[in-house]
Amino acid sequence: MPMLTLCTDFDGPVADVSERYYRVYGFCLAKIQQNHPDSAITVLSKSEFWALKRAQVPEPEIGRQSGLNPAQAQAFSQCRRETVHTFPHFEWDGLWPGIREILTQLAHQNIERYVITMRRQRELNFALAQFGLTDLFPPAHRYCIGDDFVKTQDHLDKPVLMAQALTAIAPAHPVWMVGDTEADIIAAQTHGIPVVAVLSGIRDQATLATYQPDFIQPDLAAAVALILGMAK
Ligand SMILES: [Mg+2]
Repeated sequence: MPMLTLCTDFDGPVADVSERYYRVYGFCLAKIQQNHPDSAITVLSKSEFWALKRAQVPEPEIGRQSGLNPAQAQAFSQCRRETVHTFPHFEWDGLWPGIREILTQLAHQNIERYVITMRRQRELNFALAQFGLTDLFPPAHRYCIGDDFVKTQDHLDKPVLMAQALTAIAPAHPVWMVGDTEADIIAAQTHGIPVVAVLSGIRDQATLATYQPDFIQPDLAAAVALILGMAK
C-alpha cells in the first residue's frame, strides 16, 4: 500500500468554477451596460471567455475585448473583483465527475487528504457540504483563508497556507500537491514538494508550463493515478 499524503487545491482540481466566473462576467457587463446604455457591448461566449481566463488575460483586457472603453473596462474589472468570490455566486460551482469516488478510494487506502485553498472558511465549508465531501476532508485537514483575513495575492498567501499544513502533516511519507494555478505550483516549489498541475481549472497548458510544475495532467483522477504509480 503506497504511503503518501495528497494535498489538493479545491477550485480547479475538485470544483469546476467556470460557470461562476462566466455568470459573474455577464453580471458585471450588464451592470456597466445599465450605467452606460449607449456602450457597444459584445458578450463573449463561455468558451471564448474561459479561454481568455485560462491564458491569464487580465480582466480589463477581457472587458476591452467585450467592447468596453478603458474606463468602463476598469469599472468592469473592479465589479468582477468585488463579486466573483461572493455568495450567492458560489452556487454556480459544480463538482467534477468522479471526484467523490477518487477521494473515497484514497480514504480506503489510508492515504491522507488535505485541501489547501484560497477559499475563505465559510466558502470552503459551503462547497464541501454542497458536494457531499465533508467527511472526506475532516476539519483538521482543511487549510483555507479565515473569514476576515485580508488577502494579498494568491501566489504570496498560498505558500504561507501550505507551511501551516505541512507542520500538521507527518513528514515520514512523501507529500504531493495538486493544483491548477501558478499559486499552487509556487507554494509547492517554495516547500520542495512535487506538484502536479491539472488542466481542469483556470490555466491552460502553455500558461502552466511556464511555471515548471513536475507534471501536467488533465484532471485530479489522472494526477492521483500518476502519483500512486510513482509511489509503488
Ligand atoms: Mg485553483
